[in-house]
Amino acid sequence: MRIAVVGTGYVGLTTALMLAEFGHIVRAIDIDQEKVSKINSGISPIYEPGVDELLKKHIGINLIATTKMELCDVEVTFICVGTPSKEDGSIDLTYLKNACAKIGENLSSYQIIVVKSTVIPGTTENIVIPIIEEKSGLKVGDDFGVAMCPEFLREGMALYDTFHPDRIVIGEYDKHSGDILEELYKPLKAPIIRTDIKTAEMIKYASNALLAMKISYANEIANICHKLGIDVYEVMKGVGMDHRISPHFLNAGIGFGGSCFPKDVKALINLAKELGYEPWLLEAILKINDRQPIMYVDLIEEKIGPLKGAKIAILGLSFKPNTDDVRESRAIPLVQELLKRGASVIAYDPKAMENFRKLFPEIEYAKSAEEALNNADICVIQADWDEFKNIDYDKFNLKLIVDGRKTIEFTNTPYLRIGMKQSLHS
Ligand code: NAD
Repeated sequence: MRIAVVGTGYVGLTTALMLAEFGHIVRAIDIDQEKVSKINSGISPIYEPGVDELLKKHIGINLIATTKMELCDVEVTFICVGTPSKEDGSIDLTYLKNACAKIGENLSSYQIIVVKSTVIPGTTENIVIPIIEEKSGLKVGDDFGVAMCPEFLREGMALYDTFHPDRIVIGEYDKHSGDILEELYKPLKAPIIRTDIKTAEMIKYASNALLAMKISYANEIANICHKLGIDVYEVMKGVGMDHRISPHFLNAGIGFGGSCFPKDVKALINLAKELGYEPWLLEAILKINDRQPIMYVDLIEEKIGPLKGAKIAILGLSFKPNTDDVRESRAIPLVQELLKRGASVIAYDPKAMENFRKLFPEIEYAKSAEEALNNADICVIQADWDEFKNIDYDKFNLKLIVDGRKTIEFTNTPYLRIGMKQSLHS
């Protein structure tokens, strides 16, 4: 098939690579010339394991990137543009609306348009379809098909997840669109759920809110365990063995970040309120998450006193390991709070320093974890990159290691995390 993918970020690029790997002819379209040039040179514009290799295999053969919205020979177009948060927490549909307008202007023959971007229930039917109809002068159902197929990949595992999804959700405007999409996803051999468009849109939000809730729940329990000197990881091991609960997403720590959980929970809260419903549980998920990095800073002060003048090494700036994405990373409130309390920060991350530097040009950056630790009194591990697990922390002159992710197990240097057995006695 001839396929267009609009938006070449985490979702668009991995979708394009998957379709290319299945043998389709794929055109990856983005408004960002720099991204397009990188992709065409076989270089991934994002850090994601495996993407570079697959890009080199397909680029110029059955995959090409372009800034031109050329759709005349295309049979299926995937929309994968960003849907970030506005100030008030609602989703910003500017990119989506612009992409739909361009698709509409360039639609000349029958094709199926698939929304993969995360959008609140009603968006595809009330915004995407009307814009495309208006700009193209064509009629949905007769002249073009529409489906909504939410994406569930995890950054850092984007390619793996794209090829090994737990399920494919297809919300279809018409049966033909659903049939074509089911055919496209068949090689994955994943369970496929076919439903209406609004339900598919809601499945994405309900899933992300539940995952975020599990993390905030683990952190709530961690904060209580901390006061009792109980290890929350032992507690959650016992909890997660219940098959009704599962052990996943019960790791307590400094909180969740990334481009999805915070913004999707905010968007769902905003939607609920617009509908006249107060979503108490969803609001609590974010409140706990906002408080957690501050509690980690409090923990350091409890142990060593006021932070004015303290030199703090932060290891890990991305919102989690194996990505250079710093969107909503817990390193952001952490650094803000440390600077507010008068500490100075020296930061290191294997991949995310360039992105973090744009947010915090004023802090110091080290070339390695060792360099950061050599120049600090206190170490805070914010993201559990593998390379941080093998450092000999005892060879540095650290007064304290604070571990936001239970990254390391044994050290002679004083060590703290929220919700550990020793915390009452240390
Ligand atoms: P991203 O910000 O990494 O990439 C979006 C891309 O769209 C950018 O390259 C941008 O230049 C491009 N773009 C914007 N407007 C365009 C237009 N008019 N025409 C062509 N390209 C345009 O975003 P992402 O992380 O890939 O997320 C995309 C969507 O998928 C969002 O709705 C997000 O919520 C959802 N999602 C993301 C993830 C994730 O882990 N990143 C997971 C599941 C779902």
